[in-house]
This record gives sequence, structure tokens and C-alpha cells, in this order.
Amino acid sequence: MSKLALGTVCSVRVYQKAEPSVFTAVFKRLSEIEDIFSPHIYSSNLNSINENSGVSTVRVPNELIFVLKTALYYAEISDGAFNPALGPLIQLWDIGGDNPRIPSPVEIENALSLCSWRDVEINEDDGTVFLRKDGMALDLGAIVKGYAADETARILKEAGVKKALIDFGGNILALGAKQEAGFLRKEILWRIGVQDPVKERGDYVAAISVKDATLVTSGVYERFFEKNGVRYHHILSFKTGMPVENSLASVTIIQAADAEYASMQADALSTTIFALGCEQGPSFLQKFPGTEAVFILKTGEIMETDGLKGRLSK
Ligand code: AMP
Ligand code: MG
Repeated sequence: MSKLALGTVCSVRVYQKAEPSVFTAVFKRLSEIEDIFSPHIYSSNLNSINENSGVSTVRVPNELIFVLKTALYYAEISDGAFNPALGPLIQLWDIGGDNPRIPSPVEIENALSLCSWRDVEINEDDGTVFLRKDGMALDLGAIVKGYAADETARILKEAGVKKALIDFGGNILALGAKQEAGFLRKEILWRIGVQDPVKERGDYVAAISVKDATLVTSGVYERFFEKNGVRYHHILSFKTGMPVENSLASVTIIQAADAEYASMQADALSTTIFALGCEQGPSFLQKFPGTEAVFILKTGEIMETDGLKGRLSK
């Protein structure tokens, strides 16, 4: 079953008998997550933090604090390449929105002065968040789809589902493995395609066979606009205020789905590694043993981490 949620097509396919109520529960949960985390829903908890920036602390659900804390951890270890406080800059560019445009250098400078993740204050005892400067804004778009995929997997597992494919706009969580029809019902791995960054959606440059794994991609083709032949994509740099410029066209992070909140971690990592680029990204990844990656360069070259050697069909 597919529905529009979290700004993308969210599809959940179950490969065994399941009650329709499982899907109802999943999509109800996605809508709850959207009501908490969406910057586009006026009454969302995230917006309420943003609206009260520089003014007051805001009480929020524990799950927002949990995801935000994770996001701040990635900001800290990547020295801001991943930055959940980029809201003012993201709103200024409006890439993927109704009025994308190239801001002036002064506008960029002003927005950047309000994007420090170090000015985000969490008080876990009170369950509150405070943005220290007026005009600051959080944007958790780089991590929340992964969190939503993990939550979906949890709901499916609790309902007894063992084989399912969750795909939230390229953020994939493959639960269990498929089974052959027939008497032996042998297990077959999921074959997941890696999107070709320069072709139509659904055109793959490589495929990986996995079971119980999450695969999350960040790329220049996800959201962008073009002006005078230049492509401006949606992952922005806290240093320049511009879309991140490096030799990468996309990066896909692959990790086992049994780790705690695996898809959320992979989502945060894919954006972080994309922002760090091909020079710093691979060595940064070594901090995460067991996590593999496929890098697609703008030249079309495909590189994979050692653990994927022989598992990637190109
Ligand atoms: P993803 O597709 O997971 O890589 O996330 C990209 C989204 O995260 C963008 O559409 C923005 O909402 C937000 N974003 C943009 N740049 C950054 C950044 N450097 N760090 C964290 N989030 C970002
Ligand atoms: Mg991400």
C-alpha cells in the first residue's frame, strides 16, 4: 500500500498474509510523525519550537527530543556538515518548495548567522527544547524518514509481519527476506536497486542483495531546481550557505536492520556523508563498523566499501 506522507510517496509492501488493520496502524503512525516533525504543518511541534525561537522553551513529545538528540550528535561529530538547525537557510532557498530561488549573499549571510546547532538547547528533565536566537529554525528532513521507517518496521513486527519492504522515497527498510513459491519455500534475498542519479526514477546503476537491512540514499537528484543551466540541489552547506559542491552525485548507506533505529542512523549518515563528500566521507564512515556505502561520482564512477565487494551487481 502506498500513500503520500512525509513529503514523499510512502510505500509498505507485506509479503505474507496480514490483516488490513496493520496498514491502517502504519499510516496512522506516519501521520502522527508528520504532525510532530513537519516544518510545513503549522501546528506541528517542530514549528512550535521554531515559532518560539529566542522567546521561550517549548514542551514537545519525547520522540522529538530523541530524534533531535541523534541529529545533534551527527552535527557534533561532523562539525556541522550535518546540521539540524539549517531551517532559515533551507526556507530561504526553498528547494523542492513552491518558490525556489538563488538568495543574495547578504540574505545567505543573515540566514547563516541563525543556523548554529550549538544554540539548540534540550532540557530532557522538562521535555523541552529552546532555540536561543530569534529567527532560528530546526529542520529534521534529513533524518525523519529513517525514523519513520524504523517505526513502521516496529509496528509490522509487533503485528507478526516478518517479510516486508518499506520504501519512503528512496529510504528503504527490507524486513526479513522473501520466500520462493513451491514446496521448499527457500529464502530469497531482496534485490534493491541503487538509483542512477542522472536517469529517471526507477533506473538503476547497481543492485544489492540483502536481507534484514536498511538502504538510504542522499543525492543531487532528490530535490533540486535549475537556473541558467545550473542545478541547485537540496543538501546545503553550513559553511558556504550554498548547495554542497563536491564530486558526489549520490551516496547510499547500507546497514543491518536489527541495530537500534538502524534506518534513522542510516538516514542521518547518508546526508552527513554526502555533505562531507568523497574526500572526507569514506574515512568518516570508518567510525561506523558494519556500515557499508555505495558512492556514485558525478563522473559516473561507482565505488563501494570493502564489505560490499562481490555483493553489488553493476
Ligand atoms: P536527505 O534526503 O536525507 O539527505 O535530507 C535532505 C534534507 O535535509 C533537505 O531537503 C533539507 O530539508 C535538510 N538538509 C539540507 N541540508 C542539510 C544539512 N547539511 N544537514 C542536515 N539537513 C539538511
Ligand atoms: Mg538523510
